[in-house]
Order: sequence, then C-alpha cells, then structure tokens
Amino acid sequence: MKRSENHFKKILYVDGTPNDIGGKETSIEALLFHHKKFVPYILFSDDGYFPQRLKKQGFQNVFTLKVKRLRHLHRSIPAIWQIARFIRRHNIDVVIANHSHAWVYGGLAARMAGVKAVFFIRGIYHPNHFRITCPLGWITAHWPADLYLANSQASLDSLKSRIGNGVRWEVIYSPIDTQRFSLRYSENDLTCLRTELGIPARHQVIVFSGRIQEWKGQEILLRAAPQVLSRHPQTFFLFVGKATSLDQIYYRKLQSLMKDLNIAKNVLFAGFQEDMPLILAMADVLVHASIEPEPFGRVIVEGMAMAKPVIATDAGGPREIIDHGYDGLLVPPGDPTALAESINMLLPAPQLSRQMGLRARKKVEEKFSIGKIIVRLEQTLEELIDKP
Ligand code: UDP
Repeated sequence: MKRSENHFKKILYVDGTPNDIGGKETSIEALLFHHKKFVPYILFSDDGYFPQRLKKQGFQNVFTLKVKRLRHLHRSIPAIWQIARFIRRHNIDVVIANHSHAWVYGGLAARMAGVKAVFFIRGIYHPNHFRITCPLGWITAHWPADLYLANSQASLDSLKSRIGNGVRWEVIYSPIDTQRFSLRYSENDLTCLRTELGIPARHQVIVFSGRIQEWKGQEILLRAAPQVLSRHPQTFFLFVGKATSLDQIYYRKLQSLMKDLNIAKNVLFAGFQEDMPLILAMADVLVHASIEPEPFGRVIVEGMAMAKPVIATDAGGPREIIDHGYDGLLVPPGDPTALAESINMLLPAPQLSRQMGLRARKKVEEKFSIGKIIVRLEQTLEELIDKP
C-alpha cells in the first residue's frame, strides 16, 4: 500500500554533518527506513556522502540547504529562515535536531515556524559545550526544547541540569535493524572476505570498529595485542573505521606503535567499511575500548545483534548495554592488561563465547531492535504533538 502523505504526521530530522558516518548517522538511517505512523524528512546543511547514501538506498525525502560552515552567524541566520520556510511548505509537525549544532538552527527554525522542537542528545556534554561551540550557543542553552530525547541515560544525565523542571525527556536507545544485523552469512562469504583483507584462514579475528580517534582507544587494543599473541599466536586484529584529516597524527602514532610492538603482521587498519554486518560476522570477539565515557556505543549493540561476544569499557552507555559476564564483558577504560585477560578468556572458549553471543542477540531483540524502538518513539512524538 502506498502511503498517502496527507494521512501521516511529518517529522523533519535536521542534521549537519553530511560526510561523517558514526552512530548518530546510522541510528537516524535505521529510523528513516522504519517509521510507520510518520513520514520522515531529513535536511542537511550541505550535500555529501550520507545524503547520497540515503538516496542510493531509495530514501527520497532528503534535502540539503547547500550552506557550508553553519556556525558562522552570517550563514546560520539565513539558514534558520530557510529551514522555517521548509517546515511551513512541507507541513512538518515536529522537528528533531539530531545533535547540538543541528539544535541551534533546527530548534530555532521550529520555533519560528510554530511547530514542536525536539533535541536528540547524542553526546556526553561538558557543562561549557554550548558556550564554546557557536555564537548562537547561548540561545540553545537558555531555550528549552519541547522534548529531549537521549541515546542513553548517560547522555541525558550530562545535560539534565540544563533541562528545566516540567520539560519532557525520554531515553530512546540507538536502534538496530535486527534483520540487517543477522546471521545470514555463508562460509563462502566469510572466506572471500578473509582473502580480500589478507587474514590467514586459521586465525581467530578480533574486530575493533570505530573512527580512528584517540578517545576511541585503538591504542589500548594494540597494547593488549602482544599479551594476547603470546598465548594465542594465531590471532588477527582487524580495525575498521575512518581516520579523518584531523586524526592523522593519532593514526600515524598507531602505525608506529604497531611496528614497535612487532605485531604488524597480525594487524590491519582496513579503513571505513560499508558492510559492517559482514565484517562482524567474521569476528570471534568484538572489542570496544573507548577511554572516555561513550555516549551510547552503537558498535557494541551491532556486535551483540550478530551474536558475538563483546568486550567493552565500563563507563557511559556500555554499562547500560552489557550485563557483565552474562551477555558480554566490561573492562576498566584504558587498561590493556585487563582487556588482554578478557580476550584470552574468550578465545579458547567457543562455548562460552557462543552462549554470551546468543544471550546478547536476545537482548538486542528485546531492548534495542528498531521494531520496538520505533513504536516507543512514535508514541512519544504523537503525545507531544497532541499536547497543546
Ligand atoms: N561504522 C561503519 N563502518 C566502519 C566503522 C563504523 O559503518 O568502518 C558504523 C558502525 O557500524 C556504527 C557507527 O559507525 O553504526 C559508529 O557508532 P558508535 O556509536 O559506535 O560510535 P560513534 O562513531 O558514533 O562515536
């Protein structure tokens, strides 16, 4: 049945970083394709990789303002006006700003157009964040949203002191498409991937997925690697994720560390990967090692959806995701020895890994699946819109 747009309420997601792909993008991507009671639109400041990827997958309601560097006042003020016009022209019912910068202009535009404004908190904020990020920051700090959504309790708590009494908030975890992250790969698919990446056939694979940034903790896994290899020499460490031009110094540091530790033949930095379910299907263990509290840690849930044993750091979002020892393991942040011990426990214990992985998959289906989360999100938005 083709949707008639007249019968559905309309959401406008506002996003501003068209070339990045991280948790906030893949989370919105899952939502865009699964709304049932709303027609979703998404508006970017400019064209780029992410808007193009959405269009390629058949999502048509993608719009761009074609404005670069929205933080500059002479650009952001006309952009706010353009967004407000867009909201009125498309009869949008509610605007969701997908992060703090988008809130500055998306939130103000929603006010101008007279529709409900939602701020999706997807980071753990420092108290000074809004003062320093842009000239309009003080407005954001002093003008509450109609509703705050947060990708974890940890993210919400970081802003709660700013959220006034009587304002609604809700934790909406980053949803996972459990059909896309499922168990459908054949031995042949996995062998082809190993060959393509040059991973020896008999090696067990530790996957680390995340942007190459210091706080993501790739260094911690590299420093744990010799302690793993001394016990399990047939182990391969596969790092996936992009290093932007801003992160080249850290990337070079990782490259030379790998040589200094004499582990280069067991390590690959494979860059950004489109097909994360396939990469995860090959993993024996997924490692998350952020040294700062992770706002949510979507990669953890993706690994769990693939029924993999996941080791993550014990801070921020991961604490809300993993029950230590039951459906994954938590280790202290920044501790290569603790990480190596956990890996060394899982590698020779396929039954334990499998049991943890199956429990993890069950948890994802119950708590983080797009099917469950979209229902809650839409119910929350309907209540918000109906409220005078
Ligand atoms: N990702 C990807 N390809 C890669 C590395 C990561 O598509 O090579 C995706 C990953 O599947 C996840 C997101 O990027 O959906 C990262 O989200 P997370 O919340 O873990 O971290 P963030 O980047 O938002 O800090």
